[in-house]
Amino acid sequence: MSEALIQVQQLKKYFPIRGGVFQRTIGNVKAVDGVSFQIKRGESFGLVGESGCGKSTIGRTILRLTEKTEGVISFKGQDIHQLSNKDMRSMRPKLQMIFQDPFGSLNPRIKVGEAIGEALIDHGLAKRKDVRDRVVETMELCGLASYHYERYPHEFSGGQRQRIGIARALIMNPEFVVADEPVSALDVSIQAQIINLLSDLQREKQLTYLFISHDLSVVEHLCNRVGVMYLGSIVETASRSQLFGNPLHPYTKALMSAIPIPDPTLKRERIVLEGDIPSPANPPSGCKFHTRCPIATEWCKRQIPEYRDVGEGHFVACHLV
Ligand code: SF4
Repeated sequence: MSEALIQVQQLKKYFPIRGGVFQRTIGNVKAVDGVSFQIKRGESFGLVGESGCGKSTIGRTILRLTEKTEGVISFKGQDIHQLSNKDMRSMRPKLQMIFQDPFGSLNPRIKVGEAIGEALIDHGLAKRKDVRDRVVETMELCGLASYHYERYPHEFSGGQRQRIGIARALIMNPEFVVADEPVSALDVSIQAQIINLLSDLQREKQLTYLFISHDLSVVEHLCNRVGVMYLGSIVETASRSQLFGNPLHPYTKALMSAIPIPDPTLKRERIVLEGDIPSPANPPSGCKFHTRCPIATEWCKRQIPEYRDVGEGHFVACHLV
C-alpha cells in the first residue's frame, strides 16, 4: 500500500449564488474549500462529517461527475479533469460509485440483471452473449442469487438493492470506488452485512475505496485512514487507530462522543455542539469551527489554523493542539 492511486490537491468546488434581474453571481457556496489528501492503492479512506460539509461533493468531483472550481485531482498520476471526453470515457470503468439510494438509479421497468449489465454493453467491455454470465457471476459475488436476474427493482429489500448497486459498480472491474453513504438508509443489522461485503470485495478485488459517511462508527469498521470534514475543509486526518484512540480536533472529539458504547457499564461524556453548521456561503472568519467550538479563544476568530502533521501522518487544523 505505497503508491498513491488518488491524489487531491487544494480542491475547491464553489457553487455560484445568482441574484438580481440579470442573474449575476452575487456570492458562492463554498462546498469544498481547499482540500488535499491522497489515497494509496488498496487503502480505504473514510471521509466523515455532518451532512452538508462537502464530503459528497468531493466524491462526485473526484469522479468528475461534477466539475471542480480549482485544484488538481489525479488518478494514477493523470489529472482527471484535464482528460478529453473520449479519454474520460475509457477511464470511467476504473472509477465507480456506489450511491446511498441505489433504487433511485434503477429503472423500475428494467430487470435487475439487465440493469447490472447495461454499462458493460455501453462501454463495449463484453460481448452480448457473455454479458449474462458476467452479470450472474457478479451478482453471486455480491450475495444475490442467479434467479434474481429476472426480477424487478421493487421486488428487493433495501439491503438487496444495495447489493445490486454494488454489483453495478463491481461489474466494471473498477480500481477505485467512491461509496457515498452506502449503508445510511439501512437497518443496523443489514448495515453490518453490507460493510462486511464491501470489506470482502476489497480484499478479493484489490479495490481502493473512498468511503463517505456521517457516521464514524461505520467508518471505523472499514477504513484504514479517516479524514474529518467541517464546512468544506478537512480538520483532521489520521490512521483509524490514531483517530479513534487519540482524536485531537475538538470537532472530532464531539463526533466521537456521540458514538454509542455497546458495554452498558462504560460511560462516555457526550460533547454537545451548540448551534447549527454555519452557511458555507458565508463561513466564519479564522477557524470555521469557532462558532461551535467549546474551547475557542479570541485568536481562533481571527487566525485560520494551519493544517499540520503532528506526527505519524496525523494531521490536524487547530491552534490549541
Ligand atoms: Fe476550536 Fe480554536 Fe481549535 Fe478552531 S482553532 S478547533 S476554534 S480551539
